[in-house]
Amino acid sequence: MGSLRPRVAVRAGTRDFSTGLLNDLLAAFRELGDGDLLALHGPAGLGTDLDRWARFTGNAVVEVTPEGEETRFLVRKGAPRSYDEAPEIGSRLWLYTNFDCNLACDYCCVRSSPRAEPRTLALEDLRRAADEAPAAGVRELLLTGGEPFLRPDIAEVLLTCAGALPTTVLTNGLLFAGKRRLALAGLPRDRVVFQISLDSPTPELHDRHRGAGTWEKARAGIAVARAEGFRVRLAATVSDARAEEDFQAFIEREGIPEEDCVLRRVAARGFAEEGVALSRSDLVPEVTLTREGVYWHPVGATDRDFLVTDRCFPLVEAIASVRLAFAEERRFASSLASVFRCA
Ligand code: SF4
Repeated sequence: MGSLRPRVAVRAGTRDFSTGLLNDLLAAFRELGDGDLLALHGPAGLGTDLDRWARFTGNAVVEVTPEGEETRFLVRKGAPRSYDEAPEIGSRLWLYTNFDCNLACDYCCVRSSPRAEPRTLALEDLRRAADEAPAAGVRELLLTGGEPFLRPDIAEVLLTCAGALPTTVLTNGLLFAGKRRLALAGLPRDRVVFQISLDSPTPELHDRHRGAGTWEKARAGIAVARAEGFRVRLAATVSDARAEEDFQAFIEREGIPEEDCVLRRVAARGFAEEGVALSRSDLVPEVTLTREGVYWHPVGATDRDFLVTDRCFPLVEAIASVRLAFAEERRFASSLASVFRCA
């Protein structure tokens, strides 16, 4: 933690929100543009009031780092950069097929690795989700992990999902050989899209986070999926604006359409020790099914604060639970107005 660079710093000293700190914060915020970061150094006890104030004013506390006797609160001005239009809640359904992975990336937001507990979503539950999804208003299925291609039944999983709805499978692309490559051959090209992770135009950055040699192997996996006739989307997880620009230049050079590129910042969840700290209130929910229940968003599918309900079925009720939780989150955010009305 603590890697993000603030544009301005404020030291609280002995002040709090009732003894002058707010004026300094407001003055500092006036100097910032949307998305800029402010560091507030002060006692840990400032956190509650700061969080309320940030929510009320449309900003967000995105990182909290202990610093000896003090704490550094990183406050983002305005909303996080949005890479996509938010989809309607429940129009996309995420299915965590399993949580084990052949890689152990150092920023994996769900702590996947070869040693992770698989938490395999039973084929029977995947079938039920695919069966109920169209009537529940879902228009697209997204399979993720862990590495879905570690499942011996991945061909059946993909055929089941693609039989119900257009399906995207997120993969590191390293396992398209032998039986798994044969599994690709039987999938409908017009219903299955591969989203393959590639973090950088050259191996250095990708391999630093994902392991030596993985960039070359991912490129080979992308070539296999394309040779098999699938649409391939590239997904880059980057930690700063420079890496983002490099990747954007790369996809332009390669002639890859913008809709086939997913660019996102490292989220400070799971294994990540740095990145953008995200709370539920920062994210429009994307209904996410796991073996243990329904989560707010795939980025926090190992974290209790993102668990909405442990009941996955009936699917229509699971989606309704997420919508209700979102409505409550918004009501809470607007009710903060009364907390500060007299300040
Ligand atoms: S980021 Fe993806 S490829 Fe890396 S460990 Fe996590 S699930 Fe596996």
